[in-house]
Amino acid sequence: MALKIGITGGIGSGKTTVCHIFETLGIPIYYADDRAKALMVTDKKLVESIISLFGKEAYLPDDSLNRQHIAQIAFHNPLILRELNNIVHPSVFRDGEQWHKDQKGVPYTLKEAALLFESGSHSALDKIITVYAPKELRIERVMVRNGLSREEIESRMAKQLPDEEKKERADFVIYNDGRQLLLPQVLAIHKVLTT
Ligand code: ATP
Repeated sequence: MALKIGITGGIGSGKTTVCHIFETLGIPIYYADDRAKALMVTDKKLVESIISLFGKEAYLPDDSLNRQHIAQIAFHNPLILRELNNIVHPSVFRDGEQWHKDQKGVPYTLKEAALLFESGSHSALDKIITVYAPKELRIERVMVRNGLSREEIESRMAKQLPDEEKKERADFVIYNDGRQLLLPQVLAIHKVLTT
């Protein structure tokens, strides 16, 4: 069975950029945050739980998720936000496990998630990679990518585990600080995981 590797890092650290390099090596990637968004619309049990938490207004007439409604309630109520996470994570976990089983003939798969440690998903993984970039660089990159303000980015950062802790808890750290090339770091990890 292929190894299960997790890849995490704070907002704008470069997780997706690093995953694209692993993809060129033939490694399948599970983008947990994107899958979570999809499952919130397609997983019937999850949809029911979301409706019981946020009301019918949680979905728009075309059955898409009413993000604004959910964000408005969840961001002002940490308990509801926690409850939302509690119902979304098991669904993503099940989906990720099935996806992993479906990947044949590969040495390992990668599960990319911003909140890997925070959600507890790390405990089901064989090894963890943390992508690290200094805070200022991450802020600059996300301001350019998403047009968000510094304050918005810092408030998202505050909800994530500190970088130092993520680095300490990881088996591998990839430095995406603009000083070290990504490709050699990815190749070195790929070598360890395939030999
Ligand atoms: P998020 O958690 O917010 O989705 P992420 O960790 O997946 O972010 P990326 O989307 O990979 O981060 O990178 C954030 C932004 O920084 C992107 O616009 C990306 O193109 C840019 N970026 C990442 N790494 C580099 C790099 N080494 N050189 C230049 N730009 C980079």
